[in-house]
Amino acid sequence: MQLKTGDNVIINSGRDRGKKGKILQVFPAKKLVVIDGANERTRHIRSRRSNDKGQKISFFAPLHASNVMLFCEKCGKGRRLKMHVAADGKKQRICAKCQTPFNV
Ligand SMILES: [Zn+2]
Repeated sequence: MQLKTGDNVIINSGRDRGKKGKILQVFPAKKLVVIDGANERTRHIRSRRSNDKGQKISFFAPLHASNVMLFCEKCGKGRRLKMHVAADGKKQRICAKCQTPFNV
């Protein structure tokens, strides 16, 4: 998985298709990403005691990494990425179309 925390991505499927957001958290082992503002879910919590109130807690559920694409500012679209290996062996993620390096 080549996505990192802080990357700007666009969502390709599901309820939030077409939405852009920043990655808040990554789970590389499960290939899941949490994106700010996407895939919002509500968790309902029952009251435990009679004078307590139940609660609704909203949170952003993780999405599979295959459903998001890195957003290229220059192309203005979600793009696949390539690894660019410099002469000194340093690797950089670049846009597969316009070769612009992705920051972070
Ligand atoms: Zn590009």
